[in-house]
Amino acid sequence: MKQSYDRTPAGAPGRLDTALEILGNHPDYEFVEARYATEEEILRAHSESQIRNVKSDYDSIGEGQIYEMARLAAGGSIMAAEIAMGGEPSFALVRPPGHHASGSSYWGFCYFNNIAVSLLHLKAKGLINSAYILDFDLHTGDGNINILGDDPNFSVYNPHGRGDVEYLKDAKRDLDNAPDADIIVASAGFDQYEDDWGSNLSTEAFHELGLLMFEFAKERCDGRRYGLLEGGYNFEDLGKNVLAFCEGLRGR
Ligand SMILES: [Zn+2]
Repeated sequence: MKQSYDRTPAGAPGRLDTALEILGNHPDYEFVEARYATEEEILRAHSESQIRNVKSDYDSIGEGQIYEMARLAAGGSIMAAEIAMGGEPSFALVRPPGHHASGSSYWGFCYFNNIAVSLLHLKAKGLINSAYILDFDLHTGDGNINILGDDPNFSVYNPHGRGDVEYLKDAKRDLDNAPDADIIVASAGFDQYEDDWGSNLSTEAFHELGLLMFEFAKERCDGRRYGLLEGGYNFEDLGKNVLAFCEGLRGR
């Protein structure tokens, strides 16, 4: 979606252009058009008042734009989760992001929690009971934690560490110690990038994070793995970082 829907950095025009171009020209990647999540699907993670508030959000560029885009991002995330259930890796190249959206409140460029909506969809269909959520965005995904963190079947982790080595070591330690899960998903924020707000991780680190998830999925959850876009504000390099992560997720 090239158009803008709000005035946040996540919704800025052109933000996804390099990712669309690089993945679109890559012979191994296929785009699937997102569908809209239904209200019933959104209500698994959010209150009715949240839906009302998003529908009337003052920051919307056009009337109802935010609600429509947030519903589309949530629907695309559900589709990515369903593809992953078949053992094929997938990535939801969606916006607005979602990990700062809690059950009845939202902030940080997020409106509906794409991770929670997608996982609670799989759970409602009886397809999973448990999940591991690796949130490697620069910012802690308070929405993921608020919605899913109280359920012992969901592990939510934001790694930390300065530089690739420390960061990857921390991520690997938590994955190694995590209980088995039915699926693994990334809240994939690329704002930790060395030329982004976090000034921390290289492109190769995103590849390694994908590989860690590939290994976890292979050993622990029948290959079921996917990722959803969260932050990432270096528009020029976002495409190569998304590709690096996706290649890792494929085990390449
Ligand atoms: Zn972020």
